[in-house]
Amino acid sequence: MPKTGFKYKCKDCGKVYEINNTLMLCPYCKEESLEGKPLKGVLEVVLPSYLRNLKVEFGNFDIHDYLPIEKEYFPSIPVGNTPLIKSENLNNKIGYQELYIKFDGTNPTGSYKDRASYLVSAFAKKFGLEEIVLASTGNAASSMAGIGAAAGQKIFIFVPSTAPRAKLIQCLQYGATLIPIKGNYDKAFDLSLQFSEITGYLNRNTAYNPMTIEGKKTSSFEMTAQLKKHIDYVFVPVGDGVVLSGVIKGFNDLKYLGLIRRIPKIIGVQSDKSKFIYEAFKNGNFDLSYKATTIADSISVDVARNGYSAVYDIRNINGDIITVTDEEILSAQRYISMNTGIFCEPSSAAAAAGFLKTKDYLQRESTVVLLLSGHGLKDIESASKIVDFPETYETDINQIMKRLKI
Ligand SMILES: *Cc1c(COP(=O)(O)O)cnc(C)c1O
Repeated sequence: MPKTGFKYKCKDCGKVYEINNTLMLCPYCKEESLEGKPLKGVLEVVLPSYLRNLKVEFGNFDIHDYLPIEKEYFPSIPVGNTPLIKSENLNNKIGYQELYIKFDGTNPTGSYKDRASYLVSAFAKKFGLEEIVLASTGNAASSMAGIGAAAGQKIFIFVPSTAPRAKLIQCLQYGATLIPIKGNYDKAFDLSLQFSEITGYLNRNTAYNPMTIEGKKTSSFEMTAQLKKHIDYVFVPVGDGVVLSGVIKGFNDLKYLGLIRRIPKIIGVQSDKSKFIYEAFKNGNFDLSYKATTIADSISVDVARNGYSAVYDIRNINGDIITVTDEEILSAQRYISMNTGIFCEPSSAAAAAGFLKTKDYLQRESTVVLLLSGHGLKDIESASKIVDFPETYETDINQIMKRLKI
């Protein structure tokens, strides 16, 4: 069934547009040069009002009904519907009974980015576009490469050459064209836009392509369907702030649709070594010369491209942004691994670290969801910093027992 009534709305001026394959930012609000700046004129998808009349049971819906692209265009690869895990072990240890982990490391390419890639891929298919370009710190790249492979699309990727190797190998396995550059993510972002301009290929850059925020709203629908009750807190890792805006968009939509009454308190977590959005939120300071140095590569962002839009969203729902140290991130990663069996990457562990840091100030009866956005195997280098690799044992059982002191 063809979809009607989905539109774009500029998050700055509120003008409404038809969705088409060339419109990325609001033509009135976007700036001449996008280089190294948060984007103005980010477009948000607005749902048609007739969706409010769909009679669905609380928590029982097909997400495709609430996305702007028809179901038939999505590639056949199972994105989303990730598990919401209640770890008895963890919960008993910290004295929370309603703490849940939404583990997005179980997506096909191992990260939350698949939610955006899935919708971008469907969008490209619908408009007959066969090539997709993007810049990434690693996960968006491996994600678009994988989802693109499922759809038979050609993917061109600009990444810092220092991105974790596993993510780059993923891209190559999936057959994408990898363009590792000497600069950082911010430089890759600008180069990929120039490349799109020259080639006319669809650009999937986060925040720039409106489908990225829209695609990232789906976890909020899933959490709601999985829990079937009010969620008090959601902890979300924040780099560019598109996951954050996506999660908020999801809850805003759910409220608009009448599927929830209240929006959870959403807490964005940044590393204190990558805190562009934190500073902007707390102090109104959008520091264009900011340099990020965190080990959590997926949230390592100098100037958050979705900065204005994310700060607007988090203020609008009365959420909060906090920071954690890299040490807290690594120890939270280990703590979650050891107590739940869920091995997430450092950026995701930031969300866990944010919760562990604030848990004594929240009500213990609260229903809390930690959004753990990526798989730990994607970045072995960082994970190895906090474990001691044992020296090789002699092949002698007696010596082994002796060293183990058992
Ligand atoms: C990209 C990413 C994030 C952060 O998303 P932003 O939209 O940049 O804030 C968090 N975790 C993982 C695993 C990611 O890949």
